Amino acid sequence: MAIHALPDFLINQIAAGEVVERPASVVKELIENSLDAGAHSISVMIEQGGKRLIRVSDDGPGISRSDLGLALQRHATSKISSIEDLEAVDSLGFRGEALSSIASVSRMNLVSRTADAEHAWQLGIKSGKPGNAEPAAGETGTRVELRDLFYNVPARRKFLRADRTEFSHIDELVKKMALARFDVGFELIHNAKVIRKLPPATSPEQQAERVAKLCGREFLEHALLIEEQRADLSLTGWIAEPRYNRARADRQFFYVNGRIVRDRVIAHAVRQAFHDVLFHGRHPAFVLFLDLPSRAVDVNVHPRKHEVRFRDSRMVHDFLYSSLHRRLADAGVGAGALRPGTGMGIESAQPDVSVFPRQLGMAMGVSEQIAHYAQALSPAGQMPAEPFDGDEVPPLGFALAQLHGVYILAQNTHGLVLVDMHAAHERITYERLKAGMAAEGIRSQALLVPVSVQVSEREADQAEVHADQLRGLGIECDRIGPEEILIRKVPTLLQKADLKTLLMDVLSELTIDGESSRIESEMDAVLSSMACHGSVRANRQLSIPEMNALLRDMERTERSAQCNHGRPTWIQLDLKKLDQLFLRGR
Ligand code: ADP
Ligand code: MG
Repeated sequence: MAIHALPDFLINQIAAGEVVERPASVVKELIENSLDAGAHSISVMIEQGGKRLIRVSDDGPGISRSDLGLALQRHATSKISSIEDLEAVDSLGFRGEALSSIASVSRMNLVSRTADAEHAWQLGIKSGKPGNAEPAAGETGTRVELRDLFYNVPARRKFLRADRTEFSHIDELVKKMALARFDVGFELIHNAKVIRKLPPATSPEQQAERVAKLCGREFLEHALLIEEQRADLSLTGWIAEPRYNRARADRQFFYVNGRIVRDRVIAHAVRQAFHDVLFHGRHPAFVLFLDLPSRAVDVNVHPRKHEVRFRDSRMVHDFLYSSLHRRLADAGVGAGALRPGTGMGIESAQPDVSVFPRQLGMAMGVSEQIAHYAQALSPAGQMPAEPFDGDEVPPLGFALAQLHGVYILAQNTHGLVLVDMHAAHERITYERLKAGMAAEGIRSQALLVPVSVQVSEREADQAEVHADQLRGLGIECDRIGPEEILIRKVPTLLQKADLKTLLMDVLSELTIDGESSRIESEMDAVLSSMACHGSVRANRQLSIPEMNALLRDMERTERSAQCNHGRPTWIQLDLKKLDQLFLRGR
């Protein structure tokens, strides 16, 4: 076939292949347009999962009659006009291809009215060409209506799923948009039934209400408010304390400058922040908004605009990780009301490094260390164990008894506290071991017999390139052949690890991300298992002062609401709950 230029309509259909994956992607583009136009209220009407009808109406400023045709043209936009604009985009759209692409794969009708117009105008698209604008009924604002999505692209139509599935994607999308813009009202209607109705939420109470509606009341009840600022980075929103977690990653909403995105840097920072407070295989829940100057982030990375690229991804990673990590650490004894407060005579959550012997880097010393700690635990009883008057009750209260050698029962101002003593002790020991490790830095030790590993030539090159960083992580190795590396020195704690896998993992992280947290998490895993073995076992009788000492330690220890494996360490049964159980006051 001879080379020839493609007709516009086909070009649009090709672009639609990227932009329009399914009905929900159409809804996304249309809502973004309404938000960019400054609408206060957006209504989405769907029929048959969006296959039959998608209609998005807004109360924005509308499009003038003369611009209607332009709006439907490819590469026509009112949002940018130069490369400088592109580098500092603050609108959701900017590519000028959504409406033209969507119009090329559906039967579209665009109705719009500006405030000064006497009536609305509508423009239909017939076989790829806009017709003439005709007068229409309608208030100020814009209504984009499209029927029979993919009627002319059978291959795509075949891939659409059941109405219910397509609608659930749309619902999820509307949810994401509604979480991003509390100031805008949203309405979602499916087959003439109102599915969601969300009035604008301006006060903090109304916003919390919207979060509860969209993420569930339980999420809100467990949510920790985040408000962090560093230079021109800001992080706000909510994360659920780890005891509220999910089997799937379906309550994770992350926005960069108001745009919902998926991003590796972000995902990694969040995962690391939740590392070791989350039960294995469970996922954290959060709604987070990262805001930064638009020049610091490139949004022109993907046609559907759900990816971004940070100019300084290391700084973003750092900021996210440290903000979330700190917040989770502070939430040790449960969110909100139960946090150790001032005036209770309890020190701030500083791990006590003094019980950590200097040599703890050595795996040998560890069991002694734990024995040492276990002793530090027993004399205890710095807190009075006798009856107390209301004001002085510490958050976890005072021990009453031990149940079946497993649980501690304690009384605090709210009612009954139940503590899993092994889980709690395990976390305390673990945090101390980690603090000691952090204070001493990574200790490494030469291997008696250096270990030779076979690697690819590329991996061997990387090992040479990253030699300094590896040393910083406690690993020393030499290249002794094109495809052979000799490991001479590793962190003392990791001498028993699978050294080849470890080295490969670290190298690949260094190559891709420029840094590696692999060594740290591997050491944490070792410390965690040492803490587990060194912690009080079930069936050990504890005296009341010992139990109180454990409670006080929990209050002082970061992340103490979960054990190292993410299981809760304590629960509260408040008086109201007990009264309910006994049908009191009915
Ligand atoms: P982009 O959003 O990238 O600019 P679109 O194809 O989505 O490209 O829209 C083209 C143009 O049509 C927009 O730049 C805007 O000027 C106009 N437009 C689209 N939707 C609306 C709306 N709901 N209200 C006002 N103007 C709109
Ligand atoms: Mg757009």
